[in-house]
Amino acid sequence: MTVYAAPGTPESIITFKSRYDHWIGGEWVAPVKGMYFEDITPVTGKPFAEVARGTAEDIEAALDAAHKAAPAWGRTSTTERASILNAIADVIDANREVLAVAETWDNGKAIREPLNADLPLAADHFRYFASAIRAQDGDFQEMDGTMTAYQYHEPLGVVGQIIPWNFPILMAVWKLAPALAAGNAVVLKPAEQTPVSILVLMELIGDILPPGVVNVVNGFGVEAGKPLASSNRIRKIAFTGETTTGRLILQYASANIIPATLELGGKSPNVFFADVADKNDSFYDKAQEGFTLFAFNQGEVCTCPSRALIEKPIYDSFLGDAIERTRKAVQGNPLDTDTQVGAQASNDQLEKILSYIDIGTQEGAKLLLGGERADLGGELSGGYYVQPTIFEGNNRMRLFQEEIFGPVVAVTSFDGYDDAISIANDTLYGLGAGVWSRNGNVAYRAGRDIQAGRVWVNNYHAYPAGAAFGGYKSSGIGRENNKLALSHYQQTKNLLVSY
Ligand code: NAD
Repeated sequence: MTVYAAPGTPESIITFKSRYDHWIGGEWVAPVKGMYFEDITPVTGKPFAEVARGTAEDIEAALDAAHKAAPAWGRTSTTERASILNAIADVIDANREVLAVAETWDNGKAIREPLNADLPLAADHFRYFASAIRAQDGDFQEMDGTMTAYQYHEPLGVVGQIIPWNFPILMAVWKLAPALAAGNAVVLKPAEQTPVSILVLMELIGDILPPGVVNVVNGFGVEAGKPLASSNRIRKIAFTGETTTGRLILQYASANIIPATLELGGKSPNVFFADVADKNDSFYDKAQEGFTLFAFNQGEVCTCPSRALIEKPIYDSFLGDAIERTRKAVQGNPLDTDTQVGAQASNDQLEKILSYIDIGTQEGAKLLLGGERADLGGELSGGYYVQPTIFEGNNRMRLFQEEIFGPVVAVTSFDGYDDAISIANDTLYGLGAGVWSRNGNVAYRAGRDIQAGRVWVNNYHAYPAGAAFGGYKSSGIGRENNKLALSHYQQTKNLLVSY
């Protein structure tokens, strides 16, 4: 067990600046209108830094820097870009602890997650796209003996990226790595709740990238995000966030006829077939663990397994065991590596979750565990903690249909395979799903029949860089990760050459 010292104390491994400006053209740039906002740590509920509050003027400055950098960056060889991406990965590895403390302090997540998952994955994503761009082939075809068609990839130029607060560094990296590998310059807007860890990363990698290739403008959605997504100076907008915001982004993009990649919300089913409980063995244990992952990252995960579907013959016993297991989840100081459940990312998010707990009770769902704000005492008393919460109900309830984005799971039973698939698919969303069965046929079929971009079969929450990720239905458009993501940041050039 390690407990990292809180930033602001002499023992801390990180010292934040008291004020963060925008990162534009490879340097700190003050906001044109001189406005700043407070960044609050969810760990204690107290402010710890001021951050530039960007407006359309700052977005323009960042777009100027990106346009200046884009032509030369787009002409670098794939070998050169790959070596830069690999160097960034090395910096992330070398600064894993510092970045993990920054991420936890900014977002509230239990530090074991950035230490063991988010940051190793972030480094691996850069390495993956470094390899993918070098391995990408072009194409050619003889047309009729007098003409050859050459087809190859060009960068789009300057692209905009807007990200949410739940995995600040990893969500930035999912977008930056393919965009940079493909030779684009980027203007990125982090979420206003969690801007600082990305800025700490930018400071660390600032020397590696040519100035202007990545620019970060902080600020709020309408003030800074909208002018970016609406700009006719970007050739693509990539967005991760809520489905309602995604609709707006699509409207902005349509005005300029530019493509939009949208990674949106989810209400992911986690389906447990009766045969998981045949024996009390390691498979059963894994399935039980899979159930408890709704509280992973405080439930602030787009693919949070927020609906658990358990087959009738095992419903009572499986759920009883799962409740006991969830009860044992360690909630505590997010900077302690033993902590499994940390703080929610903001006070707004805390209140939203508590309001859904009220809604669940009012609509007749049965509260089986948790259901309250957690007071962890001392300095943490002002932090945003919610007990892992389990409700029992039916799939027509709002608890089962609306994204809560907290450590709250809604549980129901099903009667056979068809019922399972019908309940699993009865939602607006289609992002993630889990299927658990010892029977390979059942597991495979269910994986195919569930309408979601990612179905974990007998596991949950793995995110390898090579596995394409994205949503069906209202969960989004396009895919991230996998070499497919490169093509979202490229134009296809066709040269028809006569000879
Ligand atoms: P959000 O939509 O409120 O905000 C996301 C980003 O969009 C922020 O940077 C915000 O400032 C910006 N924004 C808000 N309004 C805007 C506007 N009008 N124009 C331009 N930008 C605007 O989402 P959130 O609350 O930060 O994040 C949580 C959501 O993200 C959840 O719905 C979650 O499911 C989703 N998410 C999806 C994925 C995925 O890969 N599908 C991954 C992580 C999170």
